[in-house]
Amino acid sequence: MASTAPWFRVSRFYEVVDPTKGIIRCLICERKCVLPKSIHGFCYNHINIDGRLYDISYGLLSALEPRPIEIKPLFHYYPNSVALTFSGWGCNFRCPWCQNYFLSFSKPKPELSIKLSPAELVSIAKKLKLHGLCASFNEPTIHADYLVDLGEEAKGSGLYLTMVTNGYMTTSTLKEFLRVGYTGFSIDIKGCPETYKRFFGADPLIVYRNAKYILDNNGHVEIVYLVVPKANDSQECIDWVINKHLEYLGEDVPLHINRYYPAHKYYEPPTSIKLLLDIYEKARKAGIKYVYVGNIGDEAYEATRCPRCGKLLILRRNYRVVKWNLTRDNRCPRCGEKINIYGKPILNSNRTSK
Ligand code: SF4
Repeated sequence: MASTAPWFRVSRFYEVVDPTKGIIRCLICERKCVLPKSIHGFCYNHINIDGRLYDISYGLLSALEPRPIEIKPLFHYYPNSVALTFSGWGCNFRCPWCQNYFLSFSKPKPELSIKLSPAELVSIAKKLKLHGLCASFNEPTIHADYLVDLGEEAKGSGLYLTMVTNGYMTTSTLKEFLRVGYTGFSIDIKGCPETYKRFFGADPLIVYRNAKYILDNNGHVEIVYLVVPKANDSQECIDWVINKHLEYLGEDVPLHINRYYPAHKYYEPPTSIKLLLDIYEKARKAGIKYVYVGNIGDEAYEATRCPRCGKLLILRRNYRVVKWNLTRDNRCPRCGEKINIYGKPILNSNRTSK
């Protein structure tokens, strides 16, 4: 098969399984697709061409826009900053309730893509005077080759590097992300083992393994739990998520409990607010210090309070920080409690967020 398109690149992330037949294994995510010649992987972004793994969507972006970091959500990472947010096509999961299914369940579409090299992406972010780069909307992991090159390109630029991910990359891919400078990770936990088995044929402990690895290597993690009726909202599932959060990540890692709305092929009504608030109370009582409820339009549940004395520290509105009440070294001004904040807040910025 010819490999002439400029968005075809030989990947760094594969191994040869059978040299005589040219069978290879992709090592980007934990699906570890085994690919005979001319066969593409689960995410549609990689194909075996003559015994080598090709990324066939290198630099094909499906969306590009500056977005506030709070919308990711990342509430404790460079607060109030704005990142140049970009996406590609495809995903290594198939969530039936996916809000971005038109991107995530699509094969790469060169004819509809914005074509940008890593250097061009960095240059745009600098020209717009943004604070960072964020891979989001579809699953970033499957664009590992592009993201690693982007990290190399962004070195010395002053831009932070972050991603919104399902956390299902291999350890070797994650090591590369960390090596080139990705520091902020908004990671979805989609439920308990039963949820992962039923909908994805996957294992949620891999997600916690990766989140812990990031923390152990000085990165920043926030966990997002979209509570989907009849998929991951049983009491057993809720307890499992809270327990694993504390066991693997600890009490300082923020937990965002988000409301689901019907989308794509999933038609259950939106998550009940009462259930979301019950989970919020349960997580706090269990010891998680920073718990938020998203997608309900109530800023009281998007505010940060001191986990020790209860003082209001950060108030957010429309994904922007409207009140910042921490000392310069990120402590509660009333009781001195150290608050988990990664990176400098961007305060007194006149930039409009969207
Ligand atoms: S990145 Fe794509 S091709 Fe590679 S293992 Fe994951 S799903 Fe399969």
